[in-house]
Amino acid sequence: MLTPSSYIAGQWIGPSADATRIDSPVTDQPIARAGSEGIDFGAAYGWATGKGGPALRAMNIHERARMVKAMALMLQERKEELYALNPLTGATRKDGWIDIEGGIMTALTMASKARREMPDGDMYLDGPVEQLSRNGTFLGRHVAVPMPGVAVQINAFNFPVWGMLEKLAPALLAGMPVIVKPATQTSYLTEAAFRMIVESGLLPEGAVQLVVGRTGDLLDRLGAQDVVSFTGSAATALALRSNPRLLAQGTRFIAEQDSLNAAVLGPDAAPGTPEFDLFVKEAAAEMTVKAGQKCTAIRRMIVPEGMADAVTEAVSARLATIRIGDPADPDTRMGPLVSMAQKADVTARAAEIANEARRVFRHPDIPAEGAFAAPELYLCDDPDSAHAVHEVEAFGPVATILPYRDLSHAAHLANRGGGSLVSSLFTHDPDLAQTYVTGAGAWHGRIYINDRDSAAEATGHGSPLPHMIHGGPGRAGGGEELGGVRGILHYMARVAVQGSPAMLSRITNEHCPGASTPRCETHPFQHDFENLEVGQSVETTSRVVSLSDIDHFAEFTGDTFYAHMDDEAARANPFFPGRVAHGYLILSFAAGLFVDPAPGPVLANTGLNHLRFLKPVSPGDAIRVRLVVKRKTRRTDAYGEVAWAATVTNQKDEPVAEYELLTMVARSG
Ligand code: NDP
Repeated sequence: MLTPSSYIAGQWIGPSADATRIDSPVTDQPIARAGSEGIDFGAAYGWATGKGGPALRAMNIHERARMVKAMALMLQERKEELYALNPLTGATRKDGWIDIEGGIMTALTMASKARREMPDGDMYLDGPVEQLSRNGTFLGRHVAVPMPGVAVQINAFNFPVWGMLEKLAPALLAGMPVIVKPATQTSYLTEAAFRMIVESGLLPEGAVQLVVGRTGDLLDRLGAQDVVSFTGSAATALALRSNPRLLAQGTRFIAEQDSLNAAVLGPDAAPGTPEFDLFVKEAAAEMTVKAGQKCTAIRRMIVPEGMADAVTEAVSARLATIRIGDPADPDTRMGPLVSMAQKADVTARAAEIANEARRVFRHPDIPAEGAFAAPELYLCDDPDSAHAVHEVEAFGPVATILPYRDLSHAAHLANRGGGSLVSSLFTHDPDLAQTYVTGAGAWHGRIYINDRDSAAEATGHGSPLPHMIHGGPGRAGGGEELGGVRGILHYMARVAVQGSPAMLSRITNEHCPGASTPRCETHPFQHDFENLEVGQSVETTSRVVSLSDIDHFAEFTGDTFYAHMDDEAARANPFFPGRVAHGYLILSFAAGLFVDPAPGPVLANTGLNHLRFLKPVSPGDAIRVRLVVKRKTRRTDAYGEVAWAATVTNQKDEPVAEYELLTMVARSG
């Protein structure tokens, strides 16, 4: 008998003797006991905010990203221990792969995106500096800082590992401690992964706690700086978000709940096309992976009127080949639902759908014992007057085919789900895809388009990816998770900061135009990473650009564009006073002016950002360059990236080009 424990204020607390019994979905025999009796939720809250939060915020974003990466790699090492428990939940090895390795991959990707796309500092810089005054002495910038509260993350039964990691990683990256609350039914698998995290010692004390069982009065303790992130049923989401304390405090509440996701077969995707076959394959897979217990599963197949019979036949034929049985058996393609209660729920919901649609397929071969549910396909002849098919979610291997007249009718039907996590479209016609995204985009969190060109690499209708947002409007909960940095920002507070350039530079650790730029005594390219300071600058000598330079550059590179070669034609152009220097010549001369030739700490020039040519450079003009250390980002123990604000000016001190130059610079020692 498994006895998953809670982990509160540094202590493991096991279930009491009368805790909830969890039965095997395969044998219906007891496998675990779980409950949260005796937990002091005040202590849990205090431990998170008093210990975990300060410890996480003492690290900067990149340090936390390295920590989350190490945590994910540790879980990767120990994944087989999780796979050993996986079949107990009713999941096959393939289902478990989505949950276990999908969760680990999600944490790794989020950590890597944080390091690539967020600063090596305490706050996220959201958008550019805004000039708020005529002379530039008063600026503004949006930044995001960690929230000093706790994230309470309530997860669904269907993905006990992914569900924890996809929420945990963004919160930790943001600098927020987390109290994880898994669904009781599969809590032993979450607990196993959580225990590995605690045992690893990779996270600071207080960063994570676990509640197995009910949350007691935890939500009644939350305030303005806390976040609740929930995945589960619409009914529970509504009950929790209506908590008077959360409403009064304005506590952030993110909900991801059941939805009636639709897959649309394009009017061009007739039987015999690759898109028809792809639709059939994905529709059958979505119904049966995880026994259809996926928040993103296809519940409605919206198909052209004339193709409904062909789709029925093809999807049924595919479903008939699915082998259903013990999830521990490697030949099994679909296991049972998670519990007998869930089976009763799916049966009842399917009966509601059957009032409006006729059943066209039922899998003939499922084990008699346990929580097994037969895949069932329904066909609704009149989807316009039907309601249940758009509103009732049978959270299992059940889907309904809905015929449509034209693509706008298809979008209308898809949107009648009242908001979904994902809708897909199978078409090879980009115009149809454009029409569909315009007509249906507002109702679905994600639109997945697949065709013969993307099929080999497409990740599947039902797979939320860490790079893309996961969530949806209306019925889907109105929440949003993941989406790279967007997902991390759900656990940070955005604040608009206004002040002088010096203030903003110091606060953001990024040089703002107008702040002081002390000259480096020696060439800054001779300074290693640690010895360069944001704001330090260098100004080069000047160089005259001659007509023969322009001729030489044109001949050398082959760029003989008329503005550089033909005085009369150049004058006729509204931008040029006559022949002008190539923009790339200016950049090349700029490099020649600022470079320090001897080997030194600058290891490489890795690119430039935001290049703008602001004014033409005519023969006889003299250009010079100013470099200011704009931003520093540690990359490895050996080197870091230095972004320089580069401004090229002419003899009248007018800027002719501006850009951000990126260099890799060796670190000291
Ligand atoms: P629930 O909404 O009942 O449970 C989801 C989570 O909320 C679980 O962790 C549950 O804990 C917790 N919870 C329930 N009541 C409370 C409460 N009063 N206070 C704090 N936490 C609470 O969903 P189920 O897991 O029972 O699934 C029911 C239906 O929800 C499914 O049939 C399906 O329609 C939908 N669903 C949607 C999912 C999605 O990903 N969008 C995923 C799973 C389900 P506990 O387990 O201890 O009750």
